Amino acid sequence: MAVPISQMWTVASYVLKQKMMGRKRYPLVLMLEPLFRCNLACAGCGKIQYPTHILKTELTPEECFKAVEECGTPMVSIPGGEPLLHPQMPEIVAGLVARKKYVYMCTNALLLKEKLHLFKPSKYLSFSVHLDGQREHHDFSVCREGGYDIALDGIKAALAAGFRVTTNTTLFDGTDPNSVRAFFDELMDVGVEGMMLSPGYTYDKAPDQKHFLGRARSRRLFRSILSNRKSSWKFNASPMFMEFLMGKKELTCTPWGMPTYNVFGWQKPCYLLQDGYADSFAELMQATEWANYGTESGNPKCANCMVHSGYEASGVNYTFGSMKGFMQTVKATLFSKYEDEQARQLLDEFRSAHRTDSLVQIAPAGEKQEHLQEVAGD
Ligand code: SF4
Repeated sequence: MAVPISQMWTVASYVLKQKMMGRKRYPLVLMLEPLFRCNLACAGCGKIQYPTHILKTELTPEECFKAVEECGTPMVSIPGGEPLLHPQMPEIVAGLVARKKYVYMCTNALLLKEKLHLFKPSKYLSFSVHLDGQREHHDFSVCREGGYDIALDGIKAALAAGFRVTTNTTLFDGTDPNSVRAFFDELMDVGVEGMMLSPGYTYDKAPDQKHFLGRARSRRLFRSILSNRKSSWKFNASPMFMEFLMGKKELTCTPWGMPTYNVFGWQKPCYLLQDGYADSFAELMQATEWANYGTESGNPKCANCMVHSGYEASGVNYTFGSMKGFMQTVKATLFSKYEDEQARQLLDEFRSAHRTDSLVQIAPAGEKQEHLQEVAGD
């Protein structure tokens, strides 16, 4: 089972409570970004292009706890930047665990092994390790040779020490679905608890603009990866979100489902866009023109978006919104993995095309190194 029963129960009872209270819009996971600084410079990242003084800014533990209490979600995801670069991250995580929040600390795991002793294993804490595919693909994607092996070492050390470990994988155009399926086998063999998948978002600041996926291509890719899936694969995502990725279910974006708090405040409207900031969670919910966002709004910035932070909460909301939603989720859980002839053809097509030439191209090494040195210059 990819998620412990106690966590499933907490989330299900939280969502049902929101429904009984008649709340049309409610948050499910707080995206808590305590810093933008990172020790990688990935080609598809839209976060690390800030000027150096912003990259050096951090949220304090007190600011993090205040944000968590304001929005009241049962789960907190800590992306970044690289959270392990924050000197008070162990204190922040311990404070969230003490508040009984299920924490997913996202990390590229380059520092995981050496910082592991600063954390305590808990059912509330999971390291969510960023791995974009098999060794060669991941190293291209994060622009760092050897990054995969270091991350894998970190995962093994964390599992051996009794921590929960999940993975998060972002896919771009040109991804070989056969390689992703082999990658799933590798992760399951290592013993990770569950895997999360998402297409990349078309960040206009990202150095590589050529490899973001459009909606049709995303669906084709995810259908070829997730159909005919092995029963050994465990996913850390709602069944409805996975149906959505495969093009078998339409969902509308619920950007309020995963609100973002970072060094600028509460970000409008979502983790990906920056249309201003609110001083409080209440202000974010009241002052954001939610109708201006989501694919159906016609907003060009949302046109191709199928990203986890916009649609995972939509999937959970759909499941608990009606008996029909619940039954469709059960059906998707039980049957979506089975034979899909179209997906098999896609896999065969890809296999014969040998498109290994289409891996994400990395930024020039000199440029990246300069950027990292500048950021790490303290
Ligand atoms: S569709 Fe994507 S970019 Fe647009 S509001 Fe939703 S999550 Fe944000």
